[in-house]
Amino acid sequence: MSQPVSFLGRAERLLGTDEAEAVGRGVSRFATNRDQAVSAFPVMEELRDRTRTIRLRSLAHLDRLLAEFADRLTEVGGQVHFAADAAEANEIVAGILERTGAKLAVKSKSMVSEEIELNDHLGQMGVRVVETDLGEFIVQLAGDTPSHIIAPVMHWTRQGVGELFTSKLGAEYTDDPGELNEIAREHLRQIFLEADAGISGVNLAVAESGSVVLVTNEGNGRLTTTAPRVHVALMGMERIVANWQDAAVVLEVLARSATGQNLSVYTNVMTGPRRPGDPDGPEELHVVVIDNGRSDILAGPTAEILACIRCGACLNVCPVFRSVGGHGYGTVYSGPMGAIVTPGIFGMEPWWDLPYASTLCGACEEVCPVGIQIPSMLLELRKRAASEGRLPGWLEAGMRRYARTASRPTSWSRAKKWASRLSAPFSSRGWMRRIPGPARGWTDHRDFPRPAKESFAQWWSDNRGS
Ligand code: SF4
Repeated sequence: MSQPVSFLGRAERLLGTDEAEAVGRGVSRFATNRDQAVSAFPVMEELRDRTRTIRLRSLAHLDRLLAEFADRLTEVGGQVHFAADAAEANEIVAGILERTGAKLAVKSKSMVSEEIELNDHLGQMGVRVVETDLGEFIVQLAGDTPSHIIAPVMHWTRQGVGELFTSKLGAEYTDDPGELNEIAREHLRQIFLEADAGISGVNLAVAESGSVVLVTNEGNGRLTTTAPRVHVALMGMERIVANWQDAAVVLEVLARSATGQNLSVYTNVMTGPRRPGDPDGPEELHVVVIDNGRSDILAGPTAEILACIRCGACLNVCPVFRSVGGHGYGTVYSGPMGAIVTPGIFGMEPWWDLPYASTLCGACEEVCPVGIQIPSMLLELRKRAASEGRLPGWLEAGMRRYARTASRPTSWSRAKKWASRLSAPFSSRGWMRRIPGPARGWTDHRDFPRPAKESFAQWWSDNRGS
């Protein structure tokens, strides 16, 4: 089945499905864990303010910090490459692998590699790329796509994974999580040993030392970055902080916000390739710093979204994400953060409708460890979509009419009375079960409160002084 192009089309396909419900349950667990971790950490609010200051300061000095990072990393033998867009980033990685004769690469989870579709590009030039994060490994084996930035297979059941491992790896069926892990570990161990190159993302780059930091929970990041002879780390150009003090603050809030852990299980720090006498580590370390639309975002009204540390907390509390899951967004970056990042990186066409995938309830901003003002940026993008004439004609005409009515007290009062009368045939016990016309999508999946018979203003006027 071809992928519906609009958010509404994708959402309609997903609403009420087992997949969406599995994601809803998974993110609820994450949100509960996050709440518990935060309430047990009294300095969280203070660190949140500091994280915001650190990240915004990093964005304000991006050019200087990236230059400093490149100088420091070069001093310790690493190589830094700057890519203006996805095509250039892919060419750089392809060039490194070609020069070093790499035919098999292991990869740890990297959103930016998915953003630039690196696996497809390398596949076309004959390099086999194997995902080593368990979730990404399952997604790759199944030919699926991730449904959550932290937990890519949140939409899968362990029974489904058991069947997949039986059909694709020839393993004896089991749905025991420990045994499934063991099957994946055994399969991947040999691939790690044979791999020529390791490809990773970067959670943070530290300018003062030229280090890249990678946090994982599975240890696959450590093997990916140290076992093969070449390590290529991909980072969006905004992933930089000035120094280790700043990095420590960001790491304190990252895992708590993401999964409710105090700290991720593995925090890997890489400062250059293997030195003489080192027992392990790659012979070459390359860091590819990718722009791919970020400079344009930085120059516009949604620049603050580049301060995001990709914890996923805003996804976990978003009522829209909870109802449809990550696949509803049709792209690598989902949820409230993705609704801003995606049109910024990939353009408004066809992603202009993602900023409308929000109730603007503000839960995302409340949990964001960077205090990113997500709802106001969603509104900015909606304003832009409207000014570019992207809204359907019925919606634009309807909103114009609504604005006219709502700004005239007499018309507004008359409209409310009519709304109450017209809704009567579709309502029972104060709720509308079915709304006809363009708004019917609302009641396909939930009820809508019936407009009150008497407005508050009317009630006040009748009852004040009584
Ligand atoms: S916008 Fe905030 S809450 Fe959402 S992923 Fe980024 S840092 Fe986390």
